[in-house]
Amino acid sequence: MKKIIITIDGWSSCGKSTLAKQLAMALQYVYIDSGAMYRAITLYFLRNMVDWTKEKQVHEALKNIELDFRPNEKSMETEIYLNGENVEYVIRDLIIAEKVSDVATIKAVRTFAVIQQRKMGEKKGIVMDGRDIGTVVFPKAELKIFMTADNAVRVERRFRELYSKNPNITIEEVKNNLEMRDYIDSHREVSPLKKAEDAVVLDNSNITPEQQLQIALDLVKQKL
Ligand code: C5P
Repeated sequence: MKKIIITIDGWSSCGKSTLAKQLAMALQYVYIDSGAMYRAITLYFLRNMVDWTKEKQVHEALKNIELDFRPNEKSMETEIYLNGENVEYVIRDLIIAEKVSDVATIKAVRTFAVIQQRKMGEKKGIVMDGRDIGTVVFPKAELKIFMTADNAVRVERRFRELYSKNPNITIEEVKNNLEMRDYIDSHREVSPLKKAEDAVVLDNSNITPEQQLQIALDLVKQKL
């Protein structure tokens, strides 16, 4: 069967990765979480005290970063590795979320990530989620979805997810972080978050994950 590229962009915590995983599973495609790449780079910068306002330090650091995705044998979901270390879980901390959007504004960082993302799509049969996937990484993708959801719904979802790992977290912290990231992501100079002209908008505030998958599968069917 013909394989296509599916891009899913949108605001933070709108359920992009849930849909991307569902689609990849249903279609037997590869799922790539591009945000995990920016998060892993941020983790490396923080651990190695890289001052990312200094161009030279960023260039030197990027030379020492190797990212790859490997399947978790139990869940069969892909997980990100930073220089051979599984960092899938540490990169979800709020400490990373607080810095990642700053790091993702840096042109050299984006070029570094985009080159690898495009390589992953060479054979098609891929679902990639992020902020610039349909606009910059794969502007010719066959199916582009732009996801959105009510702010309150998004805050609640992310809060529940983070609270299970860290009961000290407050809803205000989560809300502020989402607002800050959305603002930086949509106002940055390089590859800002915006809907690609040919993307289909999917608002999942009031639908179940099953309904959202069905809508997306219908879109895939139309493209095939
Ligand atoms: O998707 P996730 O929330 O994990 O992404 C973390 C951050 O990485 C985003 O807030 C954004 O700043 C950055 N990002 C990006 N471009 C992408 C994916 C993520 O700038 N394609």
